[in-house]
Amino acid sequence: MKSEVIRKTILVANDDGIFATGIKALALALKPLGDVYVVAPEMEQSGVGHGITFRRPLRFKHTESAGFGDIPAYRVDGTPADCVALGIRLLPRPDLVVSGINLGQNLGDDFTHSGTVSAAVEGVHNGIPAIAFSQMFPPNGDKFDFTHGAEYAARVAAMVLEHGLPHRTVLSVNFPHGTPKGVRVTELSDHGFDDNILERDDPSGQKYYWVDGTPHGHGEPFNDLGAVKEGYISVTPVQLEFTAREYMRVLEGVLPALEGRD
Ligand code: MN
Repeated sequence: MKSEVIRKTILVANDDGIFATGIKALALALKPLGDVYVVAPEMEQSGVGHGITFRRPLRFKHTESAGFGDIPAYRVDGTPADCVALGIRLLPRPDLVVSGINLGQNLGDDFTHSGTVSAAVEGVHNGIPAIAFSQMFPPNGDKFDFTHGAEYAARVAAMVLEHGLPHRTVLSVNFPHGTPKGVRVTELSDHGFDDNILERDDPSGQKYYWVDGTPHGHGEPFNDLGAVKEGYISVTPVQLEFTAREYMRVLEGVLPALEGRD
């Protein structure tokens, strides 16, 4: 009897765009695990969160020039979530969705801004286990080196392919700069940005604005910010279950009085 090997299918997306170095490192590292497909934005989409394009058409274009070798790669003129929404329907349904490796960390409140994370969340919304990978900016504007990150990403991906993830749970993995000291399971920190709006004049004298931000947050040994700051890989499981159940009970006690009926 011939034993049947079930090939696993992995969809790789990102928010930095199909030509980014991080997605190339990730897709190539995952190749030994199964059939890999790349679907990524044709232009950078960092910070667009979970936007979905539904007021205009989208193009889904095979892109040989992206340099993924024999891994089929497609570019989409939309958001990271669009890429995953199209990829899981136009290509063989994946067993795993991965996103990244983002050029820059996604910690704390970045979770909701991040296109990298949102691509993974789109996988979870469609019932597919998903992991977002991000890597800390190197100091002094140095180049990103994804050697360690890509290698560890493949190990986490293999683990999730084998064991799955709990219902409505996504993994957000952040790699430190340099050789990791180890791995920590972490919670999201209070990292965020104090937005600073810069006002400028365009060539015709009209005002325009840049959203700039100064990062804040408390790194602790048990959170994502503390882990990457101290040189550890941070693995944060995030539950996509937003209902505030305890406060529901409070509202149920308070709201009837607002109905104006006795
Ligand atoms: Mn990005």
